[in-house]
Amino acid sequence: MIPLIKVKLGEEEKNAVMDVLNSGNLAQGPKVKQLEEEFAQLCGVKYAVAVNSGTAALHTALYTIGIKPGDEVITVPFTFVATANAIMMQGAKPIFVDIKEDTFNIDSEKIRNLITEKTKAILAVDLFGHPCEYDKLWNIANEFGLNIIEDSCQAVCAENNKGEKAGSLGDIAAFSFYATKNLITGEGGIITTNNKKYAELAKRFRHHGQSEQTNYEYRNLGYNYRMTDIMAAIGLCQIKKIKEMTKKRQKNAELFTAGLQNIKGIIPPIIKNDVIHVFHQYTIKITKDFSLTRDELIQRLNKTGIGTGIFYPKPLHLHPHFSKLGYKEGDFPVSEKISKEVLSLPINPHITEENIEKIIKVIKEVGER
Ligand SMILES: *Cc1c(COP(=O)(O)O)cnc(C)c1O
Repeated sequence: MIPLIKVKLGEEEKNAVMDVLNSGNLAQGPKVKQLEEEFAQLCGVKYAVAVNSGTAALHTALYTIGIKPGDEVITVPFTFVATANAIMMQGAKPIFVDIKEDTFNIDSEKIRNLITEKTKAILAVDLFGHPCEYDKLWNIANEFGLNIIEDSCQAVCAENNKGEKAGSLGDIAAFSFYATKNLITGEGGIITTNNKKYAELAKRFRHHGQSEQTNYEYRNLGYNYRMTDIMAAIGLCQIKKIKEMTKKRQKNAELFTAGLQNIKGIIPPIIKNDVIHVFHQYTIKITKDFSLTRDELIQRLNKTGIGTGIFYPKPLHLHPHFSKLGYKEGDFPVSEKISKEVLSLPINPHITEENIEKIIKVIKEVGER
């Protein structure tokens, strides 16, 4: 079996976890602090605040920039549900905007029409590890006085074409360290920012709104979003390996793209504007021109022992939870079309070159028939 996702931890992680267990300090402690320092450095920002999931990171980010009930936040329907749910956790409304067909990311051309007096922020998702067009987003944000939040849950170590890292491209960013992401701690997440006030508010929010100065004095509503030192110890080992693991993903993507070029009805993912794409997923599109339907291809691949994934099978606005907000089929035609075409292939750092060739061969064989 060639699984879509393969996670391999080393002796380093096991030893690091044992050290924490032996220390007796299981809650948020020195390892979390060290993780924050090293992760901030990795992203080229001044501050990082660790929390216990990517969802918590998004919620915290929205809180720190002051999103309140009644506000509107612009985001995409073609993303993981947590992006839009975090907006609703602050009592605000997700205002969906369609994506671009080539990068799967937010279509900045379509944002202006959606801005109202209630609009406070743009929540941009660096989907599959390809950063959004932040230059264009900043032009809009500056014109209308909006904040930009980066959902970089899939984009650790991604960069724009000026060498600026994901996590430093908005006012504040959210990352996930969930068990299948590029950098993992099991569950876990972190926010990054250059804004000291946002970092302080985030620390308050993750611990019940407790004052920075006085223990057991609470200034506002907060949550228990704290990370543990056990998680942070794994994260610190992962930071040491992330550059190498990312290079493997990029190399794998190159092999796939070279092999899947010029097959009728198969469109490999692109890297636009010379950004650094970190390929959390390697997602091809299967159009009507291909000899099989997507389902037939999946079946063929599965029969050969090749795992695949569909991210995401249905855009958010078509789920009952969001259609209640007034969205309906036809509202976001690109997201709707793309969700029927996408197929993610195994790109994890542990897949062998031979297995990549095997996957390409299966697709080519059925494609040429
Ligand atoms: C994984 C992910 C999240 C949520 O992260 P969790 O750690 O699972 O809470 C949010 N947004 C995107 C785009 C993600 O991929």
